[in-house]
Amino acid sequence: AEKRKVCVLGATGVGKTSLVARFVRSIFSESYRTTIGVTIETRRVRCDERELDLILWDLSGEDEFQAVQTSYLRGSAGWLLVIDGTRRLTAETGLRLYTAARTIAGEVPAVVVLNKADLTGAWDIDDATEARLRRAGLWITRTSAKTGAGVEGAFNALARAMLASEAPS
Ligand code: GDP
Repeated sequence: AEKRKVCVLGATGVGKTSLVARFVRSIFSESYRTTIGVTIETRRVRCDERELDLILWDLSGEDEFQAVQTSYLRGSAGWLLVIDGTRRLTAETGLRLYTAARTIAGEVPAVVVLNKADLTGAWDIDDATEARLRRAGLWITRTSAKTGAGVEGAFNALARAMLASEAPS
């Protein structure tokens, strides 16, 4: 299968590692991991009759702004921008990361996930925040790494957007 590198961007604690673990290994753990360094996991998806190996790069445990270093972003075909739906401020961090990433690595398709959608009682994303994300040209969806809701859809949407952005061969 063809390979595509995907960088997972977002503030600390938004659920980057949890989303990758849910998508790749169908597991969820409440215990907070503080892995330092880059974790790389791979999953194959089918998209428009093509098979793609998504190589998911997760910088968990590092300062989020290390994520916009050229060495991390180099060669990525798409970004998954993760926001914690229970912490509105992580949308500001996410937008800053997105802007910085585009400055460094250029334009690649990005999908925004508002994660922790299972925590409805603590939901903190208002209309203004969603509107700001949309104005930045971002496609928004809700996910829960805990229940798995929306996770397949988010990665599949990103895979489709990556293929659509490539010139037909
Ligand atoms: P990272 O720093 O962005 O990689 O975040 P982690 O994946 O380590 O998650 C941070 C914390 O949020 C952990 O305690 C996770 O168990 C929790 N978490 C992640 N995703 C979800 C979710 O969808 N729902 C709930 N309830 N908790 C989540």
